[in-house]
Amino acid sequence: MDLYSVETYLQPKSLAEVADWQRDWNWLAGGTWIFNQAQPRVKTLVDMQQLDWSEIETTSEGLSIGATCIQNDLLDFSFPVDWQATEALKDAVRELASFKLSHAATVGGNICLALSASTFAPAMVALQATYEIWRPNGDSYFVDAADFQTAPQQTILQPGEVLRSVKIPAANLTGWQTCFKRMSVCTAGYAIAIVVTAYHPQTRQVKFGVGGSVPSPRLVEFESVPTAEQIVAAFREQSFLDDERGSAAYRRHITQVLMQRGITELTAGRVGARRY
Ligand SMILES: Cc1cc2nc3c(=O)[nH]c(=O)nc-3n(C[C@H](O)[C@H](O)[C@H](O)COP(=O)(O)OP(=O)(O)OC[C@H]3O[C@@H](n4cnc5c(N)ncnc54)[C@H](O)[C@@H]3O)c2cc1C
Repeated sequence: MDLYSVETYLQPKSLAEVADWQRDWNWLAGGTWIFNQAQPRVKTLVDMQQLDWSEIETTSEGLSIGATCIQNDLLDFSFPVDWQATEALKDAVRELASFKLSHAATVGGNICLALSASTFAPAMVALQATYEIWRPNGDSYFVDAADFQTAPQQTILQPGEVLRSVKIPAANLTGWQTCFKRMSVCTAGYAIAIVVTAYHPQTRQVKFGVGGSVPSPRLVEFESVPTAEQIVAAFREQSFLDDERGSAAYRRHITQVLMQRGITELTAGRVGARRY
């Protein structure tokens, strides 16, 4: 789509170049969302391609994914064999609506767009990722994935701030098995509930990253495999989205069903992504 309001296009090679600019610009990552919607208020696009932030790095400490990493690159990457939980990241790519998007869209773009249907957000929450945020003056800080999004299409990012990378500790990837479940009311439709379950067979700990049905992604943890009653109790105070795609009561119910199915499959040794 031609963005008629855009008057300026900038391509910085480092963040230092943007430090003195006024803060009314929009970051441009893969452009799959920006160029797909009318953006009447966007006047300046700052293209992130030249920043060279597309790395996937593995160390003994864990995984680091640069914000401009193309989503599909995660599918081709050879992660350490004992990091089974990286399967959740690959499922986040596979469960996106179309391969045409995931060949151009970035990991950071998905997270910062903060759609309720984001497939990456609940995966990052289940893996207890942290996000590295850079301020224009060069300072940086970290925030837990579960605290980054505050509502659909709203995040904690302040004007000029940028997501630089995603970090996942090795301890959250080693020994954990994952199961990705996504529910939409029609094939390839917008998700009304997403549950990424992480299960550690040795310790029997369970973590759920819940998205799609709730205003912002939520982490639900259990020290041992939860009962159906414990799963229901975990959402007693939780509000759910309520719109033309699904009522709050329906989303609550489906979320709990997906949690139950995820943990049942993992404890039975049947793992994999499922779309309904
Ligand atoms: C028709 C359509 C349907 C989609 N359906 C789904 C879906 O069902 N599930 C799903 O998960 N995704 C969905 N997406 C989102 C898609 O997968 C991409 O993740 C998304 O379009 C953003 O990726 P991008 O890199 O192209 O970002 P862009 O379009 O370039 O940017 C998106 C937004 O994020 C900001 N941004 C980007 N990177 C950063 C950064 N590092 N720091 C700060 N701000 C940043 C931009 O300023 C912009 O506001 C859909 C997209 C489209 C166009």
